[in-house]
Amino acid sequence: MRRQGAAGGSGGSSPRASTAALPVRDDLKDLHPYGAPQLDVPVRLNTNENPYPPSQTLRDAVAAAVAAVAGTLNRYPDRDALDLRKDLADYLGHDLTARQVWAANGSNEIIQQLLQAFGGPHRTALGFEPSYSMHPLIARVTCTQWLAGTRDPDYGLSTAPGQVRAARPDVVFVTSPNNPTGTSVPLELIAAVYAAAPGIVVVDEAYAEFSRDGTPSALTLLPGRPRLVVTRTMSKAFAAAGTRLGYLAADPAVIEVLLTVRLPYHLSTVTQAVARAAIAHRQEPLATVEALRRGRDELVGWLRGHGLAVADSDANFVLFGVFGDRDRVWQGLLDRGVLIRNTGPQGWLRVTVGTPAETAAFKAALTEVLCL
Ligand code: PMP
Repeated sequence: MRRQGAAGGSGGSSPRASTAALPVRDDLKDLHPYGAPQLDVPVRLNTNENPYPPSQTLRDAVAAAVAAVAGTLNRYPDRDALDLRKDLADYLGHDLTARQVWAANGSNEIIQQLLQAFGGPHRTALGFEPSYSMHPLIARVTCTQWLAGTRDPDYGLSTAPGQVRAARPDVVFVTSPNNPTGTSVPLELIAAVYAAAPGIVVVDEAYAEFSRDGTPSALTLLPGRPRLVVTRTMSKAFAAAGTRLGYLAADPAVIEVLLTVRLPYHLSTVTQAVARAAIAHRQEPLATVEALRRGRDELVGWLRGHGLAVADSDANFVLFGVFGDRDRVWQGLLDRGVLIRNTGPQGWLRVTVGTPAETAAFKAALTEVLCL
């Protein structure tokens, strides 16, 4: 075992120290460290990473980029990460400039900065569940009251504008494609949510690159919408989860506000250099996206062909079910060396699309567990 954690619980290292004697904030007393289990098993399909490791060319480029800045590490990094933001803007297209792009250590940190700046005490954030579980968790840690909105039976968001109108939240999260369902949200609906919202609307597009053809990005909605924020990450399609680089695109005024809550020098020189090298060589990881999309569609067809319910997926994972005892299925797969995610609505499980060999191992294990 690399690091252990329970089925749905923390992936932190054990043993855990007792915190009972410490004067912890009252509102954090019942919280546990969040994280998917990190288990050392042959097939890890539980955290939606790109399964293809960097090629030798990319490894060499990353090593050279780190070597090039190594001699400057006595100095703080560029606090505003301007070169990196320019590279990210070029990648995103849509005529975006560096002033409209901001970067941090993963999109989780981006979300934290957004809630620090636009949420906080006496403010509310609304999301439509099931969705990415860090949204409510970061809301809680930033003392933002979380409002749990709902979805249609097929996980669509047709009622979202009405829910926003009724709740008048300071921040709204729309995750598209959504985690854990994989479903994406039509642009007209995002525009309607924006029109209904009095505050900031965050479209979390962590999985945007995996969308099926004809699913445009909310980046196209940015012009003329100064309260709209689109968040992205290099952890998924870019195959750079270990780099910890998330980013957003928004009106420059939003970024001006974020500069007041970010910690000075939050993005290390090494992170900036590695991210820039990865962006410069992006054609290589992004070429795997097409294979993963095909693998996803094929896996959806296979699961449906075996009588299972599967949510439509625009992401690099698939939500399937419905099981009376999903813990048994999850454990049965793990016993066969395949780790997936025990998450989502009651009775459903989520599996990341892996390499063809990993997906084959998943199918073989599931066939045994369910006697398909
Ligand atoms: N948003 C969504 C919807 C996610 O699923 C994740 C990661 N699982 C993130 C944001 C955060 O990713 P990261 O911090 O690695 O950029």
